[in-house]
Amino acid sequence: MLDHILQKADLTGELTITEIISLLELEEKKDLDRLFDCAYRIKTRHVGRTVWFRGLVEFSNICSKDCYYCGIRRSNKEVQRFALPEKAIIESAVWSWKAGYGSAVLQSGERSDPEFIAMIERVLREIKRLTNNELGITLCLGEQIEETYRRWFDAGAHRYLLRIETSNRDLYAKLHPADHSYDRRIECLDLLRKTGYQVGTGVMIGLPMQTIADLADDLMFFKRQDIDMIGMGPYIYHSTTPLMQYRREWEIPPGQLLKLGLKMIALARILMRDINIAATTALQALEDDGREQGLLAGANVIMPNTTDTQYRSSYQLYENKPCIDENASMCQDCLSRRIKSIGETPGISAWGDSPHFAARRKQTV
Ligand code: SAH
Ligand code: SF4
Repeated sequence: MLDHILQKADLTGELTITEIISLLELEEKKDLDRLFDCAYRIKTRHVGRTVWFRGLVEFSNICSKDCYYCGIRRSNKEVQRFALPEKAIIESAVWSWKAGYGSAVLQSGERSDPEFIAMIERVLREIKRLTNNELGITLCLGEQIEETYRRWFDAGAHRYLLRIETSNRDLYAKLHPADHSYDRRIECLDLLRKTGYQVGTGVMIGLPMQTIADLADDLMFFKRQDIDMIGMGPYIYHSTTPLMQYRREWEIPPGQLLKLGLKMIALARILMRDINIAATTALQALEDDGREQGLLAGANVIMPNTTDTQYRSSYQLYENKPCIDENASMCQDCLSRRIKSIGETPGISAWGDSPHFAARRKQTV
């Protein structure tokens, strides 16, 4: 039965929702290995065995939103707030360029005040100037109006990550205060695409009240949205957030949660062959080699942290975040070693766009 489903998946890239659920429910090691091998074969065929790096700059934990799962939400008074000076954000990105990463990701809490919008615009232009337009830039700065997305695109950003968090509208409502809107989130994803960005989205895996059927729907949602990249990862409880109340009833043990995250990656690769899929840091929070396992299950992007060590401990969306005592060079050495050890090649000095984006563009011109 499993062989039959996987054979079909390998040939067609299509699975029914019932088949997706049955694959997400696999538990036996030998079955999981077959699933991951299938995804890895598809990855090798469609995007190769090069791992693309995105140097991640988590430049501020000041946030105007109040998502119930997140350690840096507005109402959390126990967090020491910080914002890197403009110069330091630029330096971090330029470091990525010099290190041969090819791309950087600028991520922070959500802000939409005019000073912030203008600051990002200046930073983007300066990074582009200092790197001869060579460094690719991804933004992960939440929901914004169309004009803002446009200004940042014109200033040099070309990819944007905005997770839907869960495609289940009811669950979304339980994870956010009433003024955070699911429809607005979808609208933003559409605006980003319209503006010309390569669009990435994703979900958290293992949320309280989330079912396997929800996760299967999430995968179908990604496919329907025709997205170019996925950054999804395990949900990790944070002790000073409202979702803590569900921990006792809903927490999934780390080993099982990692497995679920890897199954989601494998299925995403099977269903959306030519997109970029990140092995996120939260995988590494569960097991030391979680990200490498992600690459072997179908992911092809890694986002090493390049934020200055002095700020890392304040940017904790979840607790026990790995590598908060390390600096960017330590991350780089450690990662290259890890990637080569599993037979993959680090991609050097290239943007590493998803072939899916190129194909999508060809269709529209
Ligand atoms: N403010 C921006 C970017 C920073 S948050 C935004 O929300 O888009 C980036 C991602 O971190 C969120 O999309 C969410 O999926 C993830 N995140 C937040 N809290 C988390 C937690 N406790 N465990 C795992 N991921 C979390
Ligand atoms: Fe802010 Fe993003 Fe955390 Fe929500 S997930 S509270 S928007 S940083």
